[in-house]
Amino acid sequence: MSHYDELHRYLLNAANVRGELVRLEDSLQKIVHSYEYPVQIQRLLSEMAAATCMLTAILKFKGEIGLQIQSKGPVSYAVINASHDYTLRGVARWDESLTALPETFAELIANGVLVITITPDEGERYQGVVALDKPTLAECIEDYFTQSEQLATKVMLMTDLSVPYAARAAGMLLQVLPSQAQNTDVSQDTEFEHVVKLSETLTEEEMFGLSVNDILYRLFHQEEVEVYPPHSVSFACTCSKQRSADALRNVEKTELLQIIEEDGAIKMNCQYCHAEYRFDSVDVEAIHAGQFVETRKDQ
Ligand SMILES: [Zn+2]
Repeated sequence: MSHYDELHRYLLNAANVRGELVRLEDSLQKIVHSYEYPVQIQRLLSEMAAATCMLTAILKFKGEIGLQIQSKGPVSYAVINASHDYTLRGVARWDESLTALPETFAELIANGVLVITITPDEGERYQGVVALDKPTLAECIEDYFTQSEQLATKVMLMTDLSVPYAARAAGMLLQVLPSQAQNTDVSQDTEFEHVVKLSETLTEEEMFGLSVNDILYRLFHQEEVEVYPPHSVSFACTCSKQRSADALRNVEKTELLQIIEEDGAIKMNCQYCHAEYRFDSVDVEAIHAGQFVETRKDQ
């Protein structure tokens, strides 16, 4: 059992710490290999995907969570979106005029911010922003939890890009349980520090090579670990020809027909999955007559 494309949650009862472990393979590759991304961007998207999965586990309702980086550095924009059922999609934009990108996270996302958006299917959207002023994405996410939730949190993110077009990512999260965070007893912090130290002994080879059970046993065999059933993680894009058609309704019909006359068709490309939706003049007439909407109702 490879346990890839799965998110595992567990409790370290004695330490009052909750944990998560995620490893991505197929779901990640559909994101990082959907475009000729430089290796630095592949690494960034891989780390963001693992982190977003672990953040998804905090959703207590149906909806979406988005992890977005905006910066003045070579990577202007990178985003991973996930839904409550652990489907992922993502994209990055960078300065393609550069012949080589810097290697470090700090240089890639200079003067950057991390925007975490939680969008419930019903209810109000929540957005949290933290400055990306730590040396790694993992530390920035720890910072987010410390600032927004006042919860001591440890995040580890690992990537394996050694095999071309076979990116893998992994993440581990340890977090003090909320009820215990209010406890000022110093011994609680000691317990947390102890499990963090144990987790830091995990090598990349072990993270990518061992089964999840073996990893948890290797790290926490002296602890009482309660493991929950895993969630499977997959790639999914929410785009459709209908959604593209809906967007075209906002454009003047004459303008659309002129594009068709010049280019033969209107081509709409999804930035996440690169699906192409084509519309001809018959489609444009239907869109502006509202007939595409009727088609959707039939589905
Ligand atoms: Zn798409």
